[in-house]
Amino acid sequence: MSPLDVIIRRQIETSGPMFVSQYMQLCLAHPKYGYYTTRDPLGVDGDFTTAPEISQLFGELVGVWLAATWQQMGSPASVALVELGPGRGTLMADILRATKSLPGFHAALSVHLVETSPALRAKQVETLKFSGITLTHHDDLENLPETPCLFVANEFFDALPTNQWVRTDKGWNARKIGLDAESQLTFGVDLTPLPAPKQVPEPAQEGTIIEHSPAQDRMLRQIIEHTQRFGGAGLIIDYGSDITGHGDTLQAVRHHQPVSPFVTAGEADLTTHVDFAHLQRIAQEAGIETTCETTCIAQQGGFLLELGLLERAGALGAQADAQTRETISLAVERLAGDVGMGILFKVLGFCSLPICLPGFAKQAPDQSNQTD
Ligand code: SAH
Repeated sequence: MSPLDVIIRRQIETSGPMFVSQYMQLCLAHPKYGYYTTRDPLGVDGDFTTAPEISQLFGELVGVWLAATWQQMGSPASVALVELGPGRGTLMADILRATKSLPGFHAALSVHLVETSPALRAKQVETLKFSGITLTHHDDLENLPETPCLFVANEFFDALPTNQWVRTDKGWNARKIGLDAESQLTFGVDLTPLPAPKQVPEPAQEGTIIEHSPAQDRMLRQIIEHTQRFGGAGLIIDYGSDITGHGDTLQAVRHHQPVSPFVTAGEADLTTHVDFAHLQRIAQEAGIETTCETTCIAQQGGFLLELGLLERAGALGAQADAQTRETISLAVERLAGDVGMGILFKVLGFCSLPICLPGFAKQAPDQSNQTD
């Protein structure tokens, strides 16, 4: 048993079963033993691989989006580029490289990294040293500069703690984590029924599970509020659905393999799929529809293709040997192909101005990925 296992069991013994979000919070972000607190989990030798770690193409195209959006916003003279959960700093490095030659863009930029993990903060500083740009690290979104911001979050929202709710004959009940007769962690249901935590499709049969992340809601509201006050735009990219559905998507991954979420606490990545339709509703309810007419959801594949994935891959491949060309074409398939990340991953774009955001033009509604 890890020290964190002991802490979690003790907490359950004294205070009773815990919400799934409390369990995720402890496993991922415990100040001493949390998964992200203690390690760099990314890459082949780690537990999972993200789009920027697959290929520079991803970050370069996100850079193209940011630069084009900045220009469409009238090229503001001061803009904060804010990345949430920057991992190893790879995405930011590719963004900065790809936008270096756009006149005035880097001169207008300040770079802000929202990161709680000391291990990853150190890695980000190292990765981004080459750029010569001053980095400011933040624990949260409280102290962002009072200027327009360009927000980017890739595989960040899925790591924020999420609750699960079960439909019983009485209504929606919290799914909680407690201890069984052998003192093993187990799921149970709190018998106090509560109102549905978000808009969900009805009818829902008994036993149906839904998920809701108060932490995601809070984070998005802060982003939208800043965007409304000071102007700006952003991209939230993650796996999830563009239709609110039912289902248990909590998953634990270790060394690139799915494991039980109750595997040694703090030793595996824990995530849930992001409900993009819900995030979009939050943005709209916060009034983004009136000031930011453009909140839109795209599939990652369509988004990248529209921004020029194939053209950029072709240009990279033209100077490369056969083996590198093969690597590039495999990366294109993983990033944008239907069996890769192309459909499963979604992109939510928003802007304080009613401009036509690049990457969202050719999107058809996705009916394919409801969880049940
Ligand atoms: N965006 C990166 C890394 C994704 S992993 C990539 O695409 O490669 C999730 C990242 O979010 C890590 O950097 C992790 O330390 C950070 N993180 C998780 N929860 C956080 C929180 N509540 N506040 C700030 N950063 C967080």
